[in-house]
Order: sequence, then structure tokens, then C-alpha cells
Amino acid sequence: MNADPALFYKNMSEMIHKQIGSGYPSIAIVGCLHGDEIIGKKVITALSNIKLNKGSITFFIAHTEALKRKKRFITEDLNRVFPGKANGNLEEKIAFALTAELKKFDVVIDIHATNSDFKELAIIVKFGQREKELLKQIPISKVALIPKEVFGGKEMINFCKRGVSLEYGPDKTGNNAPRAIRHVKAILRSLGMYGAKSTITRKKELYEVKGSYSVSKNFIPNSKLKNFKKIKPGEFIGKIKNKKIFSEKTFIPLFLGKGRYKKTLALISEKKIINL
Ligand SMILES: [Zn+2]
Repeated sequence: MNADPALFYKNMSEMIHKQIGSGYPSIAIVGCLHGDEIIGKKVITALSNIKLNKGSITFFIAHTEALKRKKRFITEDLNRVFPGKANGNLEEKIAFALTAELKKFDVVIDIHATNSDFKELAIIVKFGQREKELLKQIPISKVALIPKEVFGGKEMINFCKRGVSLEYGPDKTGNNAPRAIRHVKAILRSLGMYGAKSTITRKKELYEVKGSYSVSKNFIPNSKLKNFKKIKPGEFIGKIKNKKIFSEKTFIPLFLGKGRYKKTLALISEKKIINL
């Protein structure tokens, strides 16, 4: 199908912020899939006037409406409804339009912020040759592999040729934007698109996400737990009213604390050191 996204999403021109350079590699940088994450807009604003040696970048502010209202989403989480629907709710329409657009790009970089207490994390949904090549260009050592099964496979980067989400913590104020800008510039440098060519980073800590640790609504997590630090069976993980709860398994938690997903303590992962 040769879908013209403009037919389905009337604010398409607002969404495509700008395009710079021409030809290949063609990169899409997507910000504000979540409207309460101003970081994406800051990164895009900072990069939209850089001079490229080769290739092109197209910048997308994904959810302009949620951004205006400073809300994560209007009807449902945009990053859980891909590939979207032509006649769906607002998020489904945006997802549908973005899916068609993003197919055109060699690489899609998706910028996020989290309230969870960690500095940065690269997220991939597949770990094939394409992703391995891309990871080498990214100057972030911690990588989470979140396969389809964990969130249902409806996150945007499942629908890109080669995509990565970059998460920055520990807040959503936009304070982390300089770090994200530095990282994206480093990616562009190692692709030979910008400035002097930089080195690649082969050694990574790969956190393979196996699912999430479910807890009830009134669960209060132990604030001493730390992302990336192994939790052992019997370890104190939180309270329900005055009852202490202890871990039933061994795992490495990701997205703990204020950045945790609803009704979970954290994502459950296993760590591997890899050399790409
Ligand atoms: Zn986000």
C-alpha cells in the first residue's frame, strides 16, 4: 500500500519539524512520542541547524497535541498503538501516519525521558545484525533488549528498519537534553555524517528483558532498590500497607521507582556483557 500519511493525519506538516541534508544515510529523529517529555523537542531544536558532511536527517515531533497540553498522551499511550489505524483515535492516527513515514529511513532514533533513577539506556526490540551495527555507533554502554512479548510489540521501533529508543533519566524536565544531544551527535559522527569521525563502542552491558514484576496497586516499593543492581530471592522489595514483601526471584530491575510502569515493581532483566 502506498499510503499518503497526510490523508490520514491532518497535522502531518506540524509533525515533520524539519529536514536537513540530502541522500544517505537517511536518519529520522523522533521526539515527543510522549507529550510530557520535552527532551525530544530540545534535542531536535538543537540539532536542526547543524551542518552535515553527508546524508540527511528528518526531525519528527510525534505528538504535537500532547506536547502542547504537557500530557503523556490524550487517549492512549502512542508508543503502545503502532502500527496505528487510519480511522482510529488520535494516537492511532498519528501512529499510522508515522509508520508509513518511518519506513523510508535507514535509522530511526527515538528520544525519551524517564523519572526512573538512571542516566541513560539504549532500548532495542530485536538483536539482529542491523541492531548490532547500530549499537556500535551509540556511545551508551547500557542496552535493554525488550522483545515484542513484553509490551505486546506495539512500540514504534518495532516498525522501523533499524530503530533505537534512547531513554534519559532521572527526570522529565528536559535537564538531560545536553547529554542526549551529545550522544546523537556522536552517532552522527560515527556514521561519518557530522564533524570528525569518532570511534565506535563495542563493549556493552546487554539487559535482556524477560517481563515485568507485577505488584498490586497499593504496593509501595523499597526506595533503596537500584536499577541494574541484582535483586535476590528473599530480598525486601516493598510493602503493601504494613506487610513487607520479599522478592520471589533473582533478577535485575529496570525502570524502578517513579518511572515504573503501572502495577509493576520494575522490568525483569538478565545481564550479559557483549562485545559487538
Ligand atoms: Zn517516553
